[in-house]
Amino acid sequence: MTAKLIDGKAAALALRERVANQVSRFREAKGRAPGLAVVLVGEHPPSAAYVRSKVKATREAGMESFEHRLPASVSQDELLAVVDQLNADPAVDGILVQLPLPKQVDETAIITRISPDKDVDGFHPVSAGRLSIGLPSFVPCTPLGCLMLLQQELGNLSGLDAMVVGRSNIVGKPMAQLLLQANCTVTVAHSRTRDLPAAVRRADIVVAAVGRPELIRGDWLKPGATVIDVGQERVEQPDGTRKLLGDVAFDEAVEVAGAITPVPGGVGPMTIACLIRNTLVSASRRDGFPLPEDL
Ligand code: NAP
Repeated sequence: MTAKLIDGKAAALALRERVANQVSRFREAKGRAPGLAVVLVGEHPPSAAYVRSKVKATREAGMESFEHRLPASVSQDELLAVVDQLNADPAVDGILVQLPLPKQVDETAIITRISPDKDVDGFHPVSAGRLSIGLPSFVPCTPLGCLMLLQQELGNLSGLDAMVVGRSNIVGKPMAQLLLQANCTVTVAHSRTRDLPAAVRRADIVVAAVGRPELIRGDWLKPGATVIDVGQERVEQPDGTRKLLGDVAFDEAVEVAGAITPVPGGVGPMTIACLIRNTLVSASRRDGFPLPEDL
């Protein structure tokens, strides 16, 4: 079997277009654009690159982008003051503080200071709690993007066996909640799971969010399974170049799975598309602007 490739780039482009169309309706109706504030602390190159991509996507969707760059030496109180200022700013619908933060700053204190109404990253405990009891909430962008890809590929997920490998607060746990809400039977695996291959083999859907390149082998998969690979780690190759690898051994998995996301070009592009989607959703809630169900 050769698995179908799930094209995250195309899905993300389509979502970004849907968002841009609604942004233009929003601007016409409300006389302002939805706004996303991004806070970058220090010069960590991958964080700076993520922020550049987020700012670009925000502007391309016709939204306002507010960038706040702070030195790596910033104190916790200074960063909290920036968050307070953004919470109070009516032009800001979404606030994103790029992680990781320097060690003198308590990440939880910063995340919990963001107003839950502007928590477009979905990391605030209020957002996590609302998601877990099935109330409308901001959902972290990466698992939301994974769910969209799964629904696009499989339609109704009800009754399917889903395995989420990884239990981080930003990917694995919210992913499991979303799949549960979609009526899957969900198993969550982690570093203490016994016999991971056997657990993966039972699953119709496998979402891998581990950060261990090629951990999941082709012969672990149930034939025909749908595989979403969240992992992305740069690994040095024998010739000295660095290659982006997922958590799934792609060349093996493609022979067994029914459909699979590539790395790169799978989950990654959906994450940013979902961020601008969440920002538009926030603006629409704050200004009472109805959005289509399928956004
Ligand atoms: P994380 O916070 O480090 O969590 C990793 C999870 O994997 C933990 O729950 C850990 O278990 C589990 N794990 C570690 N080794 C394992 C093993 N041998 N078997 C089973 N489970 C194991 O990572 P994360 O933030 O969720 O990110 C995971 C990956 O996704 C990374 O490669 C990251 O770069 C990528 N990512 C991609 C995007 C995107 O937009 N595409 C976004 C976010 C993350 P314990 O809890 O027991 O330690």
